[in-house]
Amino acid sequence: MQEQQTNQNNLTHQNTTQSQKTQTVGNTQTIPTLSNQERPKKVYQCDICHDEGFIFYKKRGYGDEIYEYSKRCECQIAKENQKNIEKSDLSEIYRRCTFANYIVGTKEQGEAKEKAVGFYRECTNPNPVSTAYGMLFYGQSGAGKTHLAISTLNNFLQYGKTGLYVNYLELVRKLSQFSMDYMQYNQEISKCISVDVLLIDDLFKSKSNSDISSAKLTYMIEIINHRYYNKKITMFTTEKSIDDLLTIDESLASRIVQMTDDRYILNMNNVANFRLNKQS
Ligand SMILES: [Zn+2]
Repeated sequence: MQEQQTNQNNLTHQNTTQSQKTQTVGNTQTIPTLSNQERPKKVYQCDICHDEGFIFYKKRGYGDEIYEYSKRCECQIAKENQKNIEKSDLSEIYRRCTFANYIVGTKEQGEAKEKAVGFYRECTNPNPVSTAYGMLFYGQSGAGKTHLAISTLNNFLQYGKTGLYVNYLELVRKLSQFSMDYMQYNQEISKCISVDVLLIDDLFKSKSNSDISSAKLTYMIEIINHRYYNKKITMFTTEKSIDDLLTIDESLASRIVQMTDDRYILNMNNVANFRLNKQS
């Protein structure tokens, strides 16, 4: 056992030694040489493009002429997706949320999952049947709203879209901290408006509707209006009812509903509370 381990540890060294031939120069000096065949093969991170990032292929064009094209290799797309995932602000635990591990315990939970999957498919369909680019899950906590919304965001990230997760309370806290610092404030806002997909978790979380200051409302209006006018995919979870949202700001609420095309809007109060599943 001891010997085997030693051998393994020295494998590289031994291979080199074995394949080395020595040339005698004069009487004393020896210079190791490697023949071409014995040279260790270059190890590529990507076997498809040999780390060039592109693959070249030929295609017959008009008049039977052969043209050479190039396209980005899968490894580059995977790298970019990974970068997008890192920039999404999703914590390690949230990155593990998928449609597959959303526990469907009731018929209603099954329907909620179908809704989320349907929204993802619709937004990535080149010929969508609706004009939806928003999804709203509202209702009590513990119904799995966040898990489903994050799973949807994860799917968009895997698809190659840029995305961002923001928790409403954290976002408004940050923005009010930066309210005197125009640069930082703008940077934070532009992060929220520039990504392909934005998830605002726990929108307008507060004890009562009157707790939402006009400053907090203004931040949300700025972000949501921009996404509304630019038809950018936006997902919301909230414990507020539609009536609450309308009370907080009628035009903002109706914009959110419009973004969902009245399709991807779900009352999670009907979904049984499965707190034991640690879904929130
Ligand atoms: Zn590659």
